[in-house]
Amino acid sequence: YQSSKFEFSTQVSQTLKRVFHLDNFRLCQEGVINAAVDKRDIVCVMPTGGGKSLTYQLPAVMGRGLTIVISPLLALIWDQVRALKEIGVECVMMTGATSTSEQNEIYERMKAGSSGGRKEIRVCECTFPEKVSKSKRLISTLEKVNERGGLTNSTSDEAHCCSQLGHDFRPDYKKLSMLKTLFPRIPIQAVTATLSSKTLPDLLKILRLGPITDAAKSTGTVFFSAPLFRPNLHYKVLSKPSNAKSAIAAMGEWIQKNHPGQSGIIYCLSKKDVETVAEELREWSGGEIKTGIYHAGVEENEKERIHVRWREGKVNCICATIAFGLGIDKGDVRYMSKSLEGYYQETGRAGRDGQDSDCVLFYRGQDAARLSSLIYGDVDGSSKLQEMLRFAQDLKTCRKVAFAKYFSASAHLSASAWDAPDALSSSSGSTSTCGICDNCLRDPSSIITKDVTVETWKILKVAQYVQNEGGRVTLANLSDLVRGLGGGLFGVVGGGEGTKGKRKLNGEKEKVDLEALGGKITLGRDDTEALLIHLVLLGYLADSYHATAYSVNVYIVPSDMAVRLTR
Ligand code: ADP
Ligand code: ZN
Repeated sequence: YQSSKFEFSTQVSQTLKRVFHLDNFRLCQEGVINAAVDKRDIVCVMPTGGGKSLTYQLPAVMGRGLTIVISPLLALIWDQVRALKEIGVECVMMTGATSTSEQNEIYERMKAGSSGGRKEIRVCECTFPEKVSKSKRLISTLEKVNERGGLTNSTSDEAHCCSQLGHDFRPDYKKLSMLKTLFPRIPIQAVTATLSSKTLPDLLKILRLGPITDAAKSTGTVFFSAPLFRPNLHYKVLSKPSNAKSAIAAMGEWIQKNHPGQSGIIYCLSKKDVETVAEELREWSGGEIKTGIYHAGVEENEKERIHVRWREGKVNCICATIAFGLGIDKGDVRYMSKSLEGYYQETGRAGRDGQDSDCVLFYRGQDAARLSSLIYGDVDGSSKLQEMLRFAQDLKTCRKVAFAKYFSASAHLSASAWDAPDALSSSSGSTSTCGICDNCLRDPSSIITKDVTVETWKILKVAQYVQNEGGRVTLANLSDLVRGLGGGLFGVVGGGEGTKGKRKLNGEKEKVDLEALGGKITLGRDDTEALLIHLVLLGYLADSYHATAYSVNVYIVPSDMAVRLTR
């Protein structure tokens, strides 16, 4: 489909210029648009900020009739509806905040089409699944529109949300299966920035799309993907001090030094973190960093208000859980993520205007313990967390190469999918380095390598002792124990299985005799945590994923083991 030789090609390029005021297509935009105008079912994977919206908006305004766009997040819908209205496209939105009278008006206008005296609605942006679960009227209206031939296309943005196997599953999204059932002749366009090899078949199944096919065949789903690496994003991992106050200061200093007065998003792990970080950053900066908060618990109206204040520049630093940011046109700060997919998706919201942006991961070893409790019970999640930790602890591999490796191992994308088009021809499967990430720019002499064989041996001695005694430790607890802090106490689980019937000291604490086990280690707290994570990643310590307790896995220390530590 990537050509301008279709009978509708002139009209496509005219619409691009006249309506969208753009001169050229980007990436695979033209192919997707051609396939959409040709009424094909489509799956399109394009990086965030790559220009996915145009691929469904252009076909929507080119022909006649109504296109329904389903999008999981309000922020995205607001931005798109505003942008479409600005260029004169008749466009409405249906969200949880749309009043009954507004809804009634929209339904009437949809049913009337172009014969209602008002302009025909061309695009309806909708948080569809949530809406449908509340009201059947949207569906019955769409059925009426379809009966008179007025329904053109349905688009599912952030389509990966419908699969449980992806990283951002939204249960309501499963209901999208009803689209093909109700409207078998209406093409579906599923667009997303992340899709794993497991997610694609699942997505096809849920949306009831045919198998991926050669574009030349007239049936099946046409698949498009564009290089996922965006050369304006500068990835870096910065170490986060272990104490909360200095962590805020470190972030604040970084923001003020690198992006004073600019826009940024700080992704946090919990609602509570969102609130604390926002408040403390504001206090720390004496009000210079104008923070706002955004998470699932924030009321709809308040979300809209924050969105407006953010756009107007009255708020420049949004502290958010994952729920914020889809569709946001700017951003330069990043925080912590549960998986590389999540990190990639979150950082994708930076620099959508093509300007250089920083995607920072403020990381500290102990975050691993909190993260592992967040994904407790999720086996797939725990291996993803390990990948994330490996990424965070890696001081050598180019971040782009790391992403490429990760996604080519887990996704329906070849490693070269990460390269810019001009690099595609030269590289044979391998990915070129980006030249702008922290690891590409790191001076190798700044990496201090320290032999930690003795420290490792001591740590494993302590961990094994704790395990033999039927005890459990968290990462922070183990770090304290080996450094001779915290009174040397560890928790003992109840008697029975794990304790080999030796003890029945339910919930009690016991003391480690460090001297008998080789004595304490002399590393600082941050280095100790980094070493512990390293041992988890190497398989010497295993996270048992309940109550974030660690237990010893293997007890052999190679003599050449060294852990890199940076200062
Ligand atoms: P996505 O939905 O893939 O995250 P958007 O559709 O929001 O990305 O597009 C990101 C930005 O790129 C927008 O500001 C948009 O106007 C711009 N854009 C999209 N397509 C083009 C193009 N062909 N030429 C120039 N700018 C474009
Ligand atoms: Zn790099």
